[in-house]
Parts: sequence; structure tokens; C-alpha cells
Amino acid sequence: MDCDRCGGEAVVHAAYSGAHLCGDHLRESVEKRVRRRVRRDDLVSREATPENPQTWVIGLSGGKDSVVLTQVLHETFAEDPRIELVGLTIHEGIEGYRDKSVEACVELADDLGIRHELVSYEEEFGIRMDDVVEDDPENMAACAYCGVFRRDLLSEYAEKLGADLLLTGHNLDDEAQTALMNILEGDVAQIAKHFDASLGPLSEREESEEFVPRAKPLRDVPEKEVALYAHLRDLPAHITECPHASEAYRGEIQQLLYGLEENHPGTRHSIISGYEELAGIAAGEYNSEGGADLRDCAECGSTTTREICRKCSLLESIEAV
Ligand code: SF4
Ligand SMILES: [Zn+2]
Ligand SMILES: [Zn+2]
Repeated sequence: MDCDRCGGEAVVHAAYSGAHLCGDHLRESVEKRVRRRVRRDDLVSREATPENPQTWVIGLSGGKDSVVLTQVLHETFAEDPRIELVGLTIHEGIEGYRDKSVEACVELADDLGIRHELVSYEEEFGIRMDDVVEDDPENMAACAYCGVFRRDLLSEYAEKLGADLLLTGHNLDDEAQTALMNILEGDVAQIAKHFDASLGPLSEREESEEFVPRAKPLRDVPEKEVALYAHLRDLPAHITECPHASEAYRGEIQQLLYGLEENHPGTRHSIISGYEELAGIAAGEYNSEGGADLRDCAECGSTTTREICRKCSLLESIEAV
């Protein structure tokens, strides 16, 4: 097949748009979608100036998604003194897996000349995911612990680094899966929260003093195209799966979506666009009801809806083993 734009050899056929693209034109198209998302979500604040730049902290795991996001944002803003990028990597304490991807993060940050911070569960909480999985005091999947700790450290360090924005490398497949999971679980409050936390344009979200706003500028690009982009540009991405990966339900939804997309190209896009609209409406409803009651965790002081935050109660049960 030939590239629709230049007649060169196509490396991808995007059935959802009908496009055949060569390597160069895939690259251009991925970058365009990220930049369009940055504009549509109003991510660059009008108050940002070269004298008073914004700090964007990127959750940099060393996997293809966050590596591609960092690379594209770096090139987008390399000549723009209003935006400073910082890579933030979290080491969960997973032998043989995270060590390699940390190397990829260090290499990328070095290549791009951006600031890079590395924090670990071990230094912050005195735990390692390998041990948590073995003890498993709450009888839960590994990711159920790990996700709580990661979110906590990302927000805490985003705050410490003076971030105006916390960005993560979720792609179209990730977001369509999350949307479908929230809908199938019937969790409307979660859908509303999703909008204010990371989905809606910044100007339309309910502002929160408590959290650094999050954004996902890669969310219009399918996983396969992100992987191809990383490969074509020979970016230092680390591509093995975590040995504790255990989100069984997400895996089921992923398989379901592969099948739907195959038979009905464009399904992921339509799920996301409908979901965003619904999430915006749900967020409006919930916010007019006054939203959730937030307070400070009695142990660590972070913002929570309970007496003791989820992270602290998990740490307690891990320590009790
Ligand atoms: S797959 Fe699960 S356990 Fe592994 S790093 Fe991700 S969240 Fe943690
Ligand atoms: Zn081409
Ligand atoms: Zn706490």
C-alpha cells in the first residue's frame, strides 16, 4: 500500500480514518494530534510568560507512551520559554522490570536536556512492590496497591516540583478502556470525577485548590501508532510487561475493544467523544450539588474524603504483616 500523502511505502493503515501513511507522515500526524489536543484542552495558560514560565511535570515511566509524549512535547516547546518540562519517574521496586525502564527515562531526559526526578516506593514508603505482592495483606491484585501509591507520589511530587500541570501518557486505547469500564460499572460519580481530574478542557473544569490539574495530550492517538512512532524514531522506550500486571477486567475490556474496532473501525473514538460529553454533564450536576467532602488525612495530611487516606491505610496493613 502507498502513503496517501506522498506515494511512499505505507507503514500503517488507520482503518478508523481510512488513511495509509508512510513513516514520515505517521510521525507528522501523531505530532499534529498531540499539539491539537494541547490547544483544545487550553493547556498553555494565558498567564504563562518567558519571565513566569509554567512547569509541566510528565509522569515518565520509560514505556513507549510516556517516552513519546515527552519527546513530542519537548519538540513542541523547545523554542517556547513559557513552558518548562520535568520528567518524574517512580520506581515501584519491581526487580528486573523497573530498573530497565528507569534507564530508558534517564537516557531520554539526558538526550533532551530536561530535568528528571526519580522517586521510589522504597525511599518514600519503605516498601517494594515485589514484597507487597508476596505478602498481599489485603488479598488484592498488585495493581490495586500499586496504583494508589503511584497516584499519591505523582501528586505529591507534582506539588513539590511546583507543577502547573501533571501530564501522563495515556493513549486512545487506555482512555477508551477506562471510559467503557466506568460505564459498565455504572459508576456515574467516578465519571464526573474523571472529567474534572483529567478529561475536560482546563477552562471548563471545576478548579481545585487541592490538586495539580492533570492532562493526557496523547489520548487521541491509538496505542499501535504510539508504538510505531517510538520504533520509527528509535526512542529509548522499554517495552516489556510488568510481571505483576493483573488488571484482569481491563484485559477483558481491551480484548472486547479490539474485536469491536476490527468490525466497526472508529469505535474507540466514538466511545471517547460520547463519554467526554456525558462526563462533562455529570461533572456539572455533581458540582452543583457541592461535590465530595474533602479533608486532610489524619496520618499524612494529604487530601482525602476519609479520616485516613487510602495510601496510609494500605501502608498500615502492609506494615502489620
Ligand atoms: S502493572 Fe500493576 S503492579 Fe505493575 S507497575 Fe503497573 S500498576 Fe504496578
Ligand atoms: Zn508519506
Ligand atoms: Zn494519608
